[in-house]
Amino acid sequence: MFNMMELMIGKTKIRIVQGDITEQNTDAIVNAANPSLMGGGGVDGAIHRKGGPKILDECKKIRETKWPNGLPRGNAVITTGGNLKARYVIHTVGPIWRGGKHREPGLLAEAYKSSLKLAVSNGLKTIAFPSISTGAYGYPIEEASKIALKTVKEFLEKEDKLDEVVLVLFTQSDLDIYKKTAKTLETFKNFH
Ligand code: ADP
Repeated sequence: MFNMMELMIGKTKIRIVQGDITEQNTDAIVNAANPSLMGGGGVDGAIHRKGGPKILDECKKIRETKWPNGLPRGNAVITTGGNLKARYVIHTVGPIWRGGKHREPGLLAEAYKSSLKLAVSNGLKTIAFPSISTGAYGYPIEEASKIALKTVKEFLEKEDKLDEVVLVLFTQSDLDIYKKTAKTLETFKNFH
């Protein structure tokens, strides 16, 4: 299987690739954070390790000012990218999977939407996402991939200010799941 897929929605290119989110040179990369914004495992740990202490400093300021009780699930905030190639990190918090009847789909869609909105409101042109909630938070990736793709597509149908949205899957098997989902969604059928 090819390890990439791409499609235009209006003026924006969506790319689905296998890779490491911390290596992306988009304007912003998205962090699958937790409400504390104080770092963690998975994507979160990798971003803070590679991006350096400036990211955590800004996260601490956000906790002191805007979100003293932590960032609610589905919301997003933006910090510097520190030493990363990306100039910014957009931190969002996805839902923890608890069987699917606890607002998980809506919260996951909100996490993608809030991040995209924040990119646009900051005048950014390119953004890369990891597969939010499908690691430590346990969201089944088949279901999560449908929400990720559908939410990005619907956002871009109404908003043409972004040049590129990249969905970065850590493993080949996760990439294959996203590609399979993409082919089942009507607008993605002309993917190549
Ligand atoms: P969450 O807590 O939201 O589930 P995780 O970071 O645990 O977030 O995992 C989210 C997804 O990101 C998982 O599919 C995991 O395999 C993947 N992942 C882990 N490290 C990286 C990385 N460096 N780049 C891209 N994806 C990664």
